[in-house]
Amino acid sequence: MSKVRIYALAKELGVETAKMLEILDSLGVQYKSSSSTLDEETVEAIKTILADSSSKAEDAAPEDSSVNASATQEAAPEPVAATPPVASNPTPAPQPSAAQSATAGEERTLAAQPAAVTTTATELPHRAPVVTIMGHVDHGKTSLLDYIRKTKVAAKEAGGITQHVGAFEAKTSRGKVVFIDTPGHEAFTTIRARGANVADIAIIVIAADDSVMPQTREAIAHAKAANVPIIVAINKIDLAQANVDKVKQDIIPLDLVPEEFGGETIVVGVSARSGEGVEDLLEMISLVAEIADLRADPKAALKGVVIESRVDKQMGVLANIIVQEGTVHVGDFLVVGEKYGKIKALTNSVGDRIKDAGPSTPVQILGFSEAPTAGDTVTSAKNEHQARELVAGRTQDRRDVEEARKGRRLSLDDILGA
Ligand code: GDP
Ligand code: MG
Repeated sequence: MSKVRIYALAKELGVETAKMLEILDSLGVQYKSSSSTLDEETVEAIKTILADSSSKAEDAAPEDSSVNASATQEAAPEPVAATPPVASNPTPAPQPSAAQSATAGEERTLAAQPAAVTTTATELPHRAPVVTIMGHVDHGKTSLLDYIRKTKVAAKEAGGITQHVGAFEAKTSRGKVVFIDTPGHEAFTTIRARGANVADIAIIVIAADDSVMPQTREAIAHAKAANVPIIVAINKIDLAQANVDKVKQDIIPLDLVPEEFGGETIVVGVSARSGEGVEDLLEMISLVAEIADLRADPKAALKGVVIESRVDKQMGVLANIIVQEGTVHVGDFLVVGEKYGKIKALTNSVGDRIKDAGPSTPVQILGFSEAPTAGDTVTSAKNEHQARELVAGRTQDRRDVEEARKGRRLSLDDILGA
């Protein structure tokens, strides 16, 4: 057997990549990223551990895989799986998540990137990754999104009246992925400029016949500034003049060193025209998401971001938001900046009217009387009274700041004029 990449082995053995990395940590195996290769001996060791732990798990506690069954515990001699008295654990094995992921994260580039490597919230449910597609004009951002939308949104749904909610949910073999379908930097940067990081992963699309262009650099700079993990999709590989190798060389000076050159940047060749490579791209997105261990609390106070909003002549104000934490319900009072509204209707990305929506769900909201600003944070209020008070407070704060500024400017003018 030849060398095998970590994520490939994880897939083969049916465990999460993050768990595989924990096992490697517990074995003291050095690796650079989840695409590092493992030698045969290590692979055998892992298989033994997994076979061992699964036979133990069978006569141990019920299924409680994700949280408690960490690799360190499984590598330990006792079947400590989900049983409470951890203190009696004879081995000085490191405690699961917190401390461990903090240190391991330093070598684990993918995981080290966003704040998503949570040290506290490991028991919260996973949430789908939110992905944005950026790149130079005409490199194929819209085409790629169209292809994914056409092939990865379930047929029945795609046949329905698709609502434009600023994002859509693609179903992949590894779960849901949310794509922001307002490609380009506009969406990303206006939202970012307002302090909200809406995307968990940035796909930088680079046409194989054109390579790195000014907006490619700009997009990369934005993603890096936002500390969002980057996946490079080299598009248009179907073209005769495609030069994938040139693109791979050209991104190196931008500090994106492809894995095959010993770096850590995931690069996938795709064709938005033929669909070649798109499955691999989705796989890589899921992989990066898995390692980032994205979680959110559906019961927490609501937090969301406005992606875009518009006024429809018949419907009125429509706001597209992505729920980040908590859950929105029809009837809730929402506050966005200095505007508030009561949700009259919620629509998901395939046009269904829904009653509520949890983390990583893009929805369209009907109920604001004025269009909220893209990038603004969405929170909820208990009732109309509280919503009004919140808005009034914000308006007052803004006016105070404006007054203070005016005053300053005046006195400066006075001084200069004197
Ligand atoms: P955007 O400006 O980045 O959104 O690029 P578009 O998706 O609008 O694509 C620009 C042009 O490239 C269009 O004419 C597309 O048909 C074409 N295009 C996009 N993807 C591919 C591809 O994979 N192969 C080929 N041959 N053409 C593509
Ligand atoms: Mg476009």
